[in-house]
Amino acid sequence: MNVVFLGPPGSGKGTQATRLTASLGIAHVSTGEMLRGAVAAGTPMGREVDAILKRGELVSDTVISSLVEERVQADDCRTGFLLDGFPRTVPQAELLDAALTRLGLALAAVVLLEVPEDELLQRLTSRGEGRADDTPEVIRHRLDVYRDVTAPLAALYAERGAILRRVDGVGSMDDVATRVASAVGSPS
Ligand code: ADP
Repeated sequence: MNVVFLGPPGSGKGTQATRLTASLGIAHVSTGEMLRGAVAAGTPMGREVDAILKRGELVSDTVISSLVEERVQADDCRTGFLLDGFPRTVPQAELLDAALTRLGLALAAVVLLEVPEDELLQRLTSRGEGRADDTPEVIRHRLDVYRDVTAPLAALYAERGAILRRVDGVGSMDDVATRVASAVGSPS
């Protein structure tokens, strides 16, 4: 089963993605983690994207798409994968479609984790994860980027019928996990 996870920064997307992938036995593909890993390892790509991440901007659509296309061909993705943080723009969604077609794969569901913006701001400014992009100014910018370029993806997937599953992301982690599992038709 191949799944896309959409949701704003602070929605709990990463945590819920970890839980769902563990229960489904599919690979968790987080583009944010991949990029932070490249920065930490000091790879050429990491050096290139470091400043972009710190500003809360997006790395280029083509760079991230080829990274994902390669990643989903790894062995651990054979049982399926969950894309966490990708696609993030309409062009990325189109590049993903093209890649899936090339690979003979399809999406079973697109989960949209919904949390009101005032709660997101509160969660993000108090979580103190120590990420370089968790300063108040950059958090506000990441939320703006989400609203402007990522949120429109919901409409795009909604046009495809039942593939889009909206999930209320407010509540305890366990409650949200139960909702996410039922949204993808999996016993939690
Ligand atoms: P969050 O959802 O909290 O913003 P992520 O870990 O998903 O956290 O992403 C962190 C950062 O990594 C983003 O702000 C962006 O700079 C970069 N990034 C992650 N995924 C993508 C993507 N699909 N396209 C472009 N940039 C990305």
